[in-house]
Amino acid sequence: MALQEFKDIVHRCFRCGYCKFTTNYDDFNCPAYKKFRLESYSTGGKMWLVYGLMKGELDWSPHLSEIMYSCTTCANCIENCRFEKFNKIFVDVIEAARSEAFNKGLTPAKLLAFGEHARREHNPYMEGHADRLNWIAGGFQNPPDPEVAFFVGCTASYREQQLARSTADVMRKAGVKFAVYQDEWCCGSPLLRTGQRDAALEMANHNIDLFEGLGTKKVVTACAGCYRTLKMDYPKLTGKDVPFEVLHVSELVNRLIDEGRIKFGAEPPQRVKVTYHDPCHLGRHSNLYDAPREVLKKIPGIDVIEMAKNKGNASCCGAGGGVKSGNPEWAVEMAGDRVKEALETGAGTLVTTCPFCERNFRDAISKNSDDVDLLDLVELVNERMQ
Ligand code: SF4
Ligand code: SF4
Repeated sequence: MALQEFKDIVHRCFRCGYCKFTTNYDDFNCPAYKKFRLESYSTGGKMWLVYGLMKGELDWSPHLSEIMYSCTTCANCIENCRFEKFNKIFVDVIEAARSEAFNKGLTPAKLLAFGEHARREHNPYMEGHADRLNWIAGGFQNPPDPEVAFFVGCTASYREQQLARSTADVMRKAGVKFAVYQDEWCCGSPLLRTGQRDAALEMANHNIDLFEGLGTKKVVTACAGCYRTLKMDYPKLTGKDVPFEVLHVSELVNRLIDEGRIKFGAEPPQRVKVTYHDPCHLGRHSNLYDAPREVLKKIPGIDVIEMAKNKGNASCCGAGGGVKSGNPEWAVEMAGDRVKEALETGAGTLVTTCPFCERNFRDAISKNSDDVDLLDLVELVNERMQ
């Protein structure tokens, strides 16, 4: 939606500030406020800046743009806003504001660079489209009439290839007839979050046309960002019904365990303590909290210990909303804070369900020399599967 379409609702933010606290009011959950400690960087502050822009009392400037881009779009503020009529739209407003910043030429250069590259090579990682399936050693032959299409996503295709391989291994061992397509493009999430809507729309239309043309009825993804974008954003962005079901791999794996198609080996001699990080795109944005936890509980020998901040109140890993590219040091700082929260549980293993979270956590763990194992849920399932 264009920024002006929020005109009748933006003024309803009272700047009360509840949304930036955790539930016990002695800690901040808005990473932007926690970092910058200025009201203008908080949700309420940003809303009032937007209101000022709408009323013509403020003009766009590089500094105003920098404030709008200082947000991971984690949606913790949405979770904690006290006002029903207002509380669903904040991230949409920030994305619309960024779109206006983009039209004014005020999007940070690093974010523009990945947007331009995505239009040429269909990924934001400055990689070649021709290399998209390099993660499959020895190539892959799609079966006739596949049950599902595996939407690999850019992060797993180019940076977290062990996740792509583990997902493919799990489906293969469970006897799922799946296909992967060289012609998959970026889901568009990094473009949409950073205000590059036309490019995001190009990606969305291409991917919808691809799967529609192939007659695909079910698309599975191992990336929380791709999941949210395909499932929640494509209908809004394109104005069309998406003609296929979108599943996160945790939902698929949960079903496959219940159907007896995934079987685990014997319980290991020592139980393993695991804590689970809810990716913002899977949790707050898509309301998918249970499937990953159910899968963890079905793996023999695993004890799940929740972090103090979990589910709707989970801290952000810090990578989203263009922050990993635009402000990488801040992104790693946020990941470091979340890893500390994981360590406080006493668990030796941190599990997530998003390759972008995993990548940011790995950077923080390496920087801080934290003693914790880091795994995606599918990697853990693959390790333990018979
Ligand atoms: S989306 Fe997250 S970072 Fe952005 S204002 Fe809300 S709580 Fe803060
Ligand atoms: S977004 Fe909601 S909780 Fe936050 S300042 Fe505005 S009205 Fe208050």
